[in-house]
Amino acid sequence: MYVEDNPLNMRLVRKMLSAAGYDLIEAMDGTSGIEMARREHPDLILMDINLPDIDGLEAVALLKQDPDIACVPVIAVTANSMHGDRERCLDGGCMGYIAKPITRIELLNTVTYFMQAPVANMPMASSI
Ligand code: MN
Repeated sequence: MYVEDNPLNMRLVRKMLSAAGYDLIEAMDGTSGIEMARREHPDLILMDINLPDIDGLEAVALLKQDPDIACVPVIAVTANSMHGDRERCLDGGCMGYIAKPITRIELLNTVTYFMQAPVANMPMASSI
């Protein structure tokens, strides 16, 4: 699932992920993103941080309070690539971080990693 208010970024990610065989569901603001996550229980959430209603990290905090979806990994997607921003996203409950402009290699590397190794089922050291 991708929560993103910019249609161009949404279209870009939709094209890249569908070409790689992933199904994408889409929300354009934080509130509908939270509702969609509760309803659809996605495997992974890509979260734009600058959203028109609530801040993306505020949405992540709300998702993490919901026991049904707290285990779904969230990847922050943001243009705020200033120093410290990555830490702010990770401290806010995100498992990873993709900087805009989004590149295909970074998107697919990150998505593939989290789709193959769900954080809720972290493998034992011997099976890594
Ligand atoms: Mn945005």
